[in-house]
Amino acid sequence: MIKNNTKPHSHSTLEQSSVIIPLTTSEPDPILPPTLQLMKKYDYVAESTTGLSDIQLPFEELQEGVAKYGMLHTPGMPFEEYKEAMNREWIDVTDYDEEPEEITVDITETMNYDIYVETLKKLSRYDGVYLYQIGESTEGRDLYAIEIDMDEDRNNMVFMFTGQIHAREFAGGTFLVKMFADLVQKAQTDKDTMNMLYRNKFVAVPIINVDGREALIKEPEKWKSSGQLWKAYTNGIDGNRNFPTLSWGQVSKGNKLNYSVASKPGFSNYGGRYAGSNKETKAMMKWLYHYTVVEQAECLIDMHQQGAEIYAGKGWGPKRQSHLSVELRDEILSILNAGKTERKYKVVKDEPKYGLTGRGASITDYAFSISAGGKFSPAMGFCVLPNGKKEVLLMQINDMDHAKFKIKAPNKTFKTITIEIGKGAKYLGNSEETRQLLAEEYWKYNFGVLMECLPLIN
Ligand SMILES: [Zn+2]
Repeated sequence: MIKNNTKPHSHSTLEQSSVIIPLTTSEPDPILPPTLQLMKKYDYVAESTTGLSDIQLPFEELQEGVAKYGMLHTPGMPFEEYKEAMNREWIDVTDYDEEPEEITVDITETMNYDIYVETLKKLSRYDGVYLYQIGESTEGRDLYAIEIDMDEDRNNMVFMFTGQIHAREFAGGTFLVKMFADLVQKAQTDKDTMNMLYRNKFVAVPIINVDGREALIKEPEKWKSSGQLWKAYTNGIDGNRNFPTLSWGQVSKGNKLNYSVASKPGFSNYGGRYAGSNKETKAMMKWLYHYTVVEQAECLIDMHQQGAEIYAGKGWGPKRQSHLSVELRDEILSILNAGKTERKYKVVKDEPKYGLTGRGASITDYAFSISAGGKFSPAMGFCVLPNGKKEVLLMQINDMDHAKFKIKAPNKTFKTITIEIGKGAKYLGNSEETRQLLAEEYWKYNFGVLMECLPLIN
């Protein structure tokens, strides 16, 4: 297979210029992938913050200010850490030099971190596939994001996928690597698939909790709590409770803290000492902001386990946007359930005020927050709704359709979907039996064609 030469060869240019040319000269930038070129033009901090303050309020003062409406059970993210997250530059680690070769992703085999990285790197040899290092994990492993971006037309529809933010939920990680690898390879010989890829852009962080995955591969017996496999990062913070969303730690008056929020580090549900505290959260915040707001993505599909269920939208969000999410959810549901299977994936309805019970700090909550008009407040340390010179908390209005002011949403048609793959504890972790079950699940429930179907239903 001959790799065509339209892809920029930034490695060789970069090496030459860094050796010969001093940094002070005005040598033009080496050719960057389209996404990184776009990123250079954008001020992520200025665009994403309210711009009303640079100073974080002491937590006690913040609590006093909100006492009339409810409470905050933990402080927000320090502005310095927010700036660091949003200013972080992605490193292009695309393999421009080697020729593409056949990639086989077998769900019945264990995919450890090294195999994962090697697979992504091999995939990035294909034309139109890019690989970025977007941050590091708690234990210092690199976090990777992959893109299928065949042409530079910025009008293409963008579809976002994330997997395995929870350690024991291997399906999302493995499925996404397989979905991306199989689709790119299919396009090499199938013209219709290649044409579809030219019209759409697919992006993913297949494995967010890389440390947790590795821990459960190496020492599954150690990473257990009361017989249950570990979900959180290996430092005991739950990635899906740590995002500085519109509903970060907010509990409206009379509403009890949700049972699924833990007060100390452990196997699941602990949100951290403050919002955005984990390294993985920080890396994901910029990734989410870039595609959701800057590139106006269609949707985020976040893969979890294991209730054979699917969630859509946010109870506290604009009804119209949630309705679009529900429409997409039903289409995806019909794809998953189209096979002749004894069990079906089912719908889960969000609680109406889901976010205001203290647990609305998931990855989909964050993507939904920033798409619907949430801006980062340096004073509070999480997303708020700007109203002129005021910063309005979600608990002041309860849901976004009840604001008495205009909310400016940067991506009004953005949708969020959460898929819980498999059913029952036997689908969790990385045992031989689990891998076998997940391989069957992948084919039975049409995960292998999900990416191709998405552009048709959007
Ligand atoms: Zn999960």
